[in-house]
Amino acid sequence: MTTRILVLGAGFGGLELTTLLSEKLGDSVDLTLIDKSDTFTFGYSKLDVMFHGASVESVRLPYKNFVKPGVNFRRETVVSVDPATKRVTTDGGAYEADYLILALGADYDFAATPGLAEATEFYTVAGAERIGKMLPTFSGGHVIIGLCGAPYKCPPAPCEAALMMHDYLTKRGIRQKSQITVITPFDIPIPPSPETSRAILDAFAERDITFMAEREVKAVDAARRIATTDDGHEHPYDLFLGVPAHRAPKVLAAGGLTEGGWVTVNKYTLETRFPGVYAIGDCAKQGTPKAGLFAEGAARAVATALIAKLRSGFTAVPHEGKGSCYLEFGGGLIGRVDVDFFSNPEGPTGTYFPPSLAMRANKEQFGATRRARWFGL
Ligand SMILES: Cc1cc2nc3c(=O)[nH]c(=O)nc-3n(C[C@H](O)[C@H](O)[C@H](O)COP(=O)(O)OP(=O)(O)OC[C@H]3O[C@@H](n4cnc5c(N)ncnc54)[C@H](O)[C@@H]3O)c2cc1C
Repeated sequence: MTTRILVLGAGFGGLELTTLLSEKLGDSVDLTLIDKSDTFTFGYSKLDVMFHGASVESVRLPYKNFVKPGVNFRRETVVSVDPATKRVTTDGGAYEADYLILALGADYDFAATPGLAEATEFYTVAGAERIGKMLPTFSGGHVIIGLCGAPYKCPPAPCEAALMMHDYLTKRGIRQKSQITVITPFDIPIPPSPETSRAILDAFAERDITFMAEREVKAVDAARRIATTDDGHEHPYDLFLGVPAHRAPKVLAAGGLTEGGWVTVNKYTLETRFPGVYAIGDCAKQGTPKAGLFAEGAARAVATALIAKLRSGFTAVPHEGKGSCYLEFGGGLIGRVDVDFFSNPEGPTGTYFPPSLAMRANKEQFGATRRARWFGL
């Protein structure tokens, strides 16, 4: 019987995994990819929508362009996962698999922070669009970029938003009338890279941006415009850029796959405690931050493991725990940090590349290669 491989979620992890499997296994396996959406959007596009007036339509990449040999894409919502039998139910049918890969990303837990659902956030496309529409009439005041918990997607994104906000308010001539504060549970902006953190804190000091460390937003009162932190302090604001608490999608918790909110895996193989069931990317506790390149790294490890199982002459490559994050510093300049989470037994190590125009070209290339590789665009 043809081997059935079922991939749930067509984000960074699911798209790369399916592409790799299609390249090596093609029509010889029964490869199904399921996603509830009809389009993919890069996480960082939300910053373009918010600050640069990019339309939502312009940053969406339609799955109808994801056409790969042997891949059957289904636009359906997963409603249950039974990891013991590898049976999955969706709103469109039921599937059985020999290998099941969970790549459903992280969900936002609005209920964890009272009042957040009525406030503004920039971690959904709709939320970023809403703030982007509010900005032109904003006349200055206190802007809070408030994190409601960790881990969260793309550790640098809140700091990038602060630096981009500084640029935006400066261009509008209202920076003098404004304050910008980042409230974060971390002690420094990018904990695995003190050098990157220092560069960000220097940039904040130059621009008079306040970094409020080791604090979390616990409640938001959108009517009174108050964010309350975990120490009970109330912080009045004029514009709130929230980052909701994250957790793995409920459907995975209901399947008994999560512990402490995330799918537990062997960090080198990405296999869950259920044989033949893997989890990659943001939904998994895979030992790295929640970011696109780290999801891709996990996808590579699972792809090589499955190819090695199904084809002689191939060797599985364990998950390396390496990846990069780009950092928008404003003024068109971009920096980058490359982090290696597994090689050094003492802890993660980071290499920092200072902001430059050349790195902007590098980031654009990063997006362009994925658009071409996955969507043929
Ligand atoms: C503001 C912001 C900026 C960012 N900037 C960067 C950056 O510069 N670089 C970077 O590397 N990362 C960045 N990220 C993070 C990056 O977007 C994520 O870490 C990455 O997308 C994770 O990949 P994934 O495959 O695990 O999940 P996702 O890409 O989130 O994909 C999960 C998929 O599962 C689908 N899904 C979920 N539930 C169901 C269900 N029940 N049924 C069917 N389908 C379902 C979703 O529709 C989605 O397509 C940023 C994120 C944000 C919010």
